[in-house]
Amino acid sequence: MSRLTCLRGGLVVDPTQSGGPTVRDLFFRDGRIVTPAPGEPADEVIDCAGRTVMAGGVDLHSHIGGGKVNLARMLLPELQRDGANPLRCTPHESDPCSLVTPGTLATGLRYAQMGYTAAFEPAMLPANARHAHLEMGDTPILDHGAYVMLGSDELLLRWMHAGVPFEQIRDYVGWTIHASKALGVKVVNPGGISAFKFNQRKLDVDEAHVHWGVTPRQIVHTLARALRELQVPHPLHIHGSNLGVAGNIASTLETIAALEGLPAHLTHVQFHAYGTEGPKKFSSAALQLAEAVNANPHISIDVGQIIFGHTVTASGDTMRQHANAGLANPRKWIGADIECDAGCGVVPFRYREQSFVNALQWVIGLELFLQVKDPWRVVLTTDHPNGGPFTSYPHLIRLLMDRSFRLEQLARLHPEVAANCALKDMTRELTLEEIAIMTRAGPARLLGLADRGHLRPGAAADIAVYRQDGDAEQQFTDPPLVFKDGLLVARAGQIVAQPVGATHIVEPVYDTSIDKRIRAEAQAHGGTPPQPISHDELCSCCRGGRILPVECLAAEEGA
Ligand SMILES: [Zn+2]
Ligand SMILES: [Zn+2]
Repeated sequence: MSRLTCLRGGLVVDPTQSGGPTVRDLFFRDGRIVTPAPGEPADEVIDCAGRTVMAGGVDLHSHIGGGKVNLARMLLPELQRDGANPLRCTPHESDPCSLVTPGTLATGLRYAQMGYTAAFEPAMLPANARHAHLEMGDTPILDHGAYVMLGSDELLLRWMHAGVPFEQIRDYVGWTIHASKALGVKVVNPGGISAFKFNQRKLDVDEAHVHWGVTPRQIVHTLARALRELQVPHPLHIHGSNLGVAGNIASTLETIAALEGLPAHLTHVQFHAYGTEGPKKFSSAALQLAEAVNANPHISIDVGQIIFGHTVTASGDTMRQHANAGLANPRKWIGADIECDAGCGVVPFRYREQSFVNALQWVIGLELFLQVKDPWRVVLTTDHPNGGPFTSYPHLIRLLMDRSFRLEQLARLHPEVAANCALKDMTRELTLEEIAIMTRAGPARLLGLADRGHLRPGAAADIAVYRQDGDAEQQFTDPPLVFKDGLLVARAGQIVAQPVGATHIVEPVYDTSIDKRIRAEAQAHGGTPPQPISHDELCSCCRGGRILPVECLAAEEGA
């Protein structure tokens, strides 16, 4: 059954096509955007006059699987209300629930309600990859995928310490992507999670790991180079050193320098853009970081905006989560480790408007959004749930598009922050097109998803149709129509279908003989010999969802 559907007369906002937003018809058939033959009648015409039509949203950094979120759910039963109504509560109700870590069902439905059709888990431990894929496979509607964590794993550090040839490490990275069925690689506090286990409580970019002798600078460069040589489209996804520490802007700038021009994505940079100025020795370094991003076209970022209210922070960064545990609200936390791959820390937290630090964090995030010039290299995230739940995206979009609303919110914050920040004088209001870049076209491109994030013929018919009346927050909360691969999944906030999403992976070419060496190492050091996930297994643990490998970069680009 091949039905041609026409979305008639909407304002099509697709930043990948020249000419800007245009009122026109958009056609799709068999789950793909198409150009019909001249005069070909549509089987179904949907009137979209007075509506905005965009590709489905793509969240490139959202903790929706992978173990930590489950631990967070177990730690905080009092903040779960999924059973009552997974879709009702919003982060702005005084209600503490805020959907801080919604279950898999609510996650898929709530994203789809907002017009998002894909979300990517940024911190999958190799040893926990099966669980991560099961959890994402249990999340309806959304396409998904994950970045596998490397950089504090024993094998990498041991090999770097021993000075093995770079090619051996590159093949290990390729093997890890293959074995865990990842879309990319994330490094978290490079080397620091391991150093924590050797009683180091901080590890700056040029500080050596006390046991393995390697530095975060070496780890970042090695992994970034490996991904470049493996021609993986999404470059190294970096959660840098010293997350949350006053003055960490120096580490962040050093991390950019460590890349020596290699491409990389710096994640949740709001947490990495702090100075030490002012009476409280805690200040915004957003302008410095934005300048560095503007000057380095090989760097992309996502922001990790904080949103006031209750949430839970869940991170692989055991070192920093241990340091933050005293701030837990309510007062309980989890620290964990599996197979010496990396770590895990879960700390519940409440961001308060009247807290100087929290108010400044809010300001820094927005300053970053407004100061980085190229929207293709800034992705809209709250690092769900760390800065706040993804359900607050419509609110965040309004903050970026509407200066008077932004100033209204700013006036409610800690008075010292409100009076002195650079944000209060920033007049930029993001356009609908810039929002479309930061929430779909940009992240899709950064991940190498060639047929997502845009509406050109051949693209997947992942489409969100928004209202034009009301403020931006209202518009982006419950679009009248959301299609996933051409199937209507949400209508004005009501879920009408729950298809199974696809898994996006990357399959780099590497020397497979590395497998033997990895097994031998695991056996020699008392680990569990790793068992790669096969396509069949991935498919069954993701409920039969399609597996969609992204195309690797061309050789000349990757060289
Ligand atoms: Zn992180
Ligand atoms: Zn994160």
